[in-house]
Amino acid sequence: MPSIMDDGNSNAPASEPKTVSTRFLKDLFSQTKVDATPFVNTIIREAVGLASSDIFFEPAKNTVRVRSRIDGVMYYLGEFSLDEFPQISSRIKVLSQLDPTEKRRIQEGQFTLNLEGRVVNLRVEIAQTIHGELIVIRIHEKQSIVMPLSDLGFSKKTDEIYRDMLRSMSGLILVCGPTGCGKTTTLYSTINQLNENQTYNIMTIEDPVEYQLQGVNQMQTKNDMGFTFAEGLRTILRLSPDVIFVGEIRDRETAQIAVESGLTGQLVLSSVHAEDSVGALFRLLDLGVESYLLNAALLGIVAQRLVRKNCLECQIPVSPTPEQSEYFLKTTGRSPKQFMVGKGCPSCQNLRYKGRTGIYEVLKMDSKVRDLVRSRASEDILRDTLKSHGFLTLLQDGIEKAERGVTTIDEVLRNSLRSS
Ligand SMILES: [Zn+2]
Repeated sequence: MPSIMDDGNSNAPASEPKTVSTRFLKDLFSQTKVDATPFVNTIIREAVGLASSDIFFEPAKNTVRVRSRIDGVMYYLGEFSLDEFPQISSRIKVLSQLDPTEKRRIQEGQFTLNLEGRVVNLRVEIAQTIHGELIVIRIHEKQSIVMPLSDLGFSKKTDEIYRDMLRSMSGLILVCGPTGCGKTTTLYSTINQLNENQTYNIMTIEDPVEYQLQGVNQMQTKNDMGFTFAEGLRTILRLSPDVIFVGEIRDRETAQIAVESGLTGQLVLSSVHAEDSVGALFRLLDLGVESYLLNAALLGIVAQRLVRKNCLECQIPVSPTPEQSEYFLKTTGRSPKQFMVGKGCPSCQNLRYKGRTGIYEVLKMDSKVRDLVRSRASEDILRDTLKSHGFLTLLQDGIEKAERGVTTIDEVLRNSLRSS
């Protein structure tokens, strides 16, 4: 970690906690004998209460470690004896309608829970490790997958550019970033917004359908039956669509059809695995899309990351270190007087952060970018040109959010954003 991460402020905690506990979890893991049904129920209920996205049951030589991922960060919840694991594993399998006697195959199941009015969908994955069954429960909650576009974290400027692209209703819009960066939320929220007046035929091809959107015609790929993204897209084109969402562009054929569909009067939304917007543009060229077709079809590219938000209940102002000030000056041309940092409190379970927000860069295809694509400029030249024209990068958007006290510099840099 670079030295600018050092906080140097005595009233801020030195390092982040990697364990999280609640009164119920403390009681649970102090028991010597385990009763499977309440044990599993409590862990799930507490993990959902902590806004976890995953729960891990990880067997080791003598114990099973239970961890959970909260706002993208892994926390230790507790552990129990390996001897108790068979009954815990059976209970989870019964809940997710899996065969409790099956111990070898990889198993996938799911179940839904209604926790005090919150409908939570839990997907269960079980795989065999050298010490026994690794169980991962992935938690999906509708309110965190679909939200109003205005709640996603777009700055005023990027929000305007994005909405402007959507209004054209014809062409291709891509969202990119690594796994778990919130692409699905951005795309689902966008589709939900486009569907507000129920005036479009919105069709999707996804792998898998992560959430059912009301009024949207969703399809799922079946690769073993040859129903791939490319095949799904061909099918959709025969069904008079206005808006098409293709889960991901990862091969030449899908790239080709998606680009061509954007040229024939539909709005096509998709995602690409790339670090930033310029990277995504070159990804499509690398997949063999002709530059003149890309120039004609592509409206723009959104790149994004998720950062944790400071806990509003316990955040306090801190002065920047000289290194942080210098870094800021270099990146933004400004010197902020203070940042906000959480101290830890009951509201955030002493995690100092609560919830996440997106940081974004939005590359709009304008004549300048198209000229560079046409002349086959390199990625570096494209980035430098954009920067000299005031393009707001992911890093700058993140730093701006730290300056406004929404998050911390540590959190922005933890997301390993391109800093040059
Ligand atoms: Zn707090």
